[in-house]
Amino acid sequence: MSKKRHRPPHRTILAPATGEAPLYWECPVCGYISGDPAFLDAQHPCPFCKATGTERRSFPTERIRRLDARIRSYHREGDHEIVVILVMTFLETILEDILDRIMNAHGADLPLRRMVMDTQRSIGVRIGKVFPSLAGEEFEDAAAELGYRDFPYRWRQLREARNAFIHDSPFNGVKEALQPSMGDNAMDLLDQAYQLFVLMNNKFVADGFHGA
Ligand SMILES: [Zn+2]
Repeated sequence: MSKKRHRPPHRTILAPATGEAPLYWECPVCGYISGDPAFLDAQHPCPFCKATGTERRSFPTERIRRLDARIRSYHREGDHEIVVILVMTFLETILEDILDRIMNAHGADLPLRRMVMDTQRSIGVRIGKVFPSLAGEEFEDAAAELGYRDFPYRWRQLREARNAFIHDSPFNGVKEALQPSMGDNAMDLLDQAYQLFVLMNNKFVADGFHGA
């Protein structure tokens, strides 16, 4: 597995847990994302590329924040089946975003990125084929290196439970309802997904690959 690292290691500052979508800022020059509030100040240099004076975009986007808020409100109401279904949608969106950002960092233009996403719609293929071909390592290995070894496995388990629930029909027998604990599992994955996204971004988008 090749690893393109042109810069010394850096430590990503993660945003504190607040019970809602976390707030991060992104350097528009190199794509680095930080949860350090000082990063909002444009005079504070980017810890990665040292750029100053540029307005930092916030992450996650408004679209993700709205979805996050809806998921948390369903969770407060104890509607764990909706929580599981929406968290799966959320995770798929986050994965699509990171793949898009890595492709962009590799120099892929919008039509190419759109074509890849349109033709590789299966979540299994995106994780098992698209990610490794872009990142140079398996998704599971990258998650483990960044401290989230269980994440891919827990995501897969929840995906299987969701699929069994959604595709339940009189023709293939009654599937068990989603368990309430799966709603809590889904919420753990939601919170972890932001952190993993930021760490993967800083490793595969800002670090090494950007502009390579
Ligand atoms: Zn930067």
